[in-house]
Amino acid sequence: MIDLHAHSTASDGTLAPGELVQLAHDKGLEALALTDHDTVGGLVEASAGAARLGLRFVPGLELSAKWNGLSEVHVLGYCVNAECGRLSEALRWLRSCRRQRAEEIVEKLNRLGVSLEFDRVLAAARGSSLGRPHLAAALVQARHAADLAEAFRLWLVPGAPAYIEKQQLTTAEALEVIRGSGGVPVLAHPATLQLDSERLAKLVSALAEQGLSGLEAYWSRHTEGEVRYCEELARTYRLVVTGGSDFHGQNKPGIELGMAAGRRDLPMKLVDELEQRRP
Ligand code: AMP
Ligand code: ZN
Ligand code: FE
Ligand code: FE
Repeated sequence: MIDLHAHSTASDGTLAPGELVQLAHDKGLEALALTDHDTVGGLVEASAGAARLGLRFVPGLELSAKWNGLSEVHVLGYCVNAECGRLSEALRWLRSCRRQRAEEIVEKLNRLGVSLEFDRVLAAARGSSLGRPHLAAALVQARHAADLAEAFRLWLVPGAPAYIEKQQLTTAEALEVIRGSGGVPVLAHPATLQLDSERLAKLVSALAEQGLSGLEAYWSRHTEGEVRYCEELARTYRLVVTGGSDFHGQNKPGIELGMAAGRRDLPMKLVDELEQRRP
């Protein structure tokens, strides 16, 4: 059993990278990829922990990108070299954008009469890749919402009064940054884009031209039909298929580590195929 999509406290998960690999080991996983949003900050700790446990570790990350007016196209990068200068530079830029956006969201909330201190948000993030989950946590802590889901619903989802879109790379830039660091780019959870099959095929075809190597067919919340369609697209565009839970700990209740694999028992050979796609 393997899981190629998981988040730690380096972004918006609730387990530290070391705790995450320990949990993977305890659950009997044979391989795990850490794919935090816009950061490689958890990779050293996770990789060291995995080595001690005899767990195969795939260093990764997840970038949000835009393509043709479509935003939040999530691209996973596997086998990246965290030391790559071009990658570090892109991540630094994304981090500064995230910080500025969080500050602007706090200003919006304050103008709406929802008093929140930016320091509370920073405290919730504890040095990790700052995002809406940390704003939500701070809102809950300040008793402006009963739980994270409510905080999102009231203020932080698109269309809600304090929502601000995140600055994103274009898909071409995201793929270039991943490949430039020796990584393998994979389109994450294609179904979340909510495109009809024709438009999804168009996106995948365009990304394949830009250097995409794989599709995350076996994402934990894909339906059977969505899985089959991703497999079909992967065959058409000669892409590898991957899968994972998108585990975030307590931040995404109901998603357990290894879950994609729990239903389909993803084989280790997917990791080999992924590694063979390294540029
Ligand atoms: P950001 O990258 O700052 O835009 O935050 C994106 C993160 O927020 C994702 O990883 C989701 O897990 C989380 N998220 C987005 N929408 C919701 C929601 N309605 N309820 C709870 N978490 C959400
Ligand atoms: Zn996340
Ligand atoms: Fe994602
Ligand atoms: Fe994710």
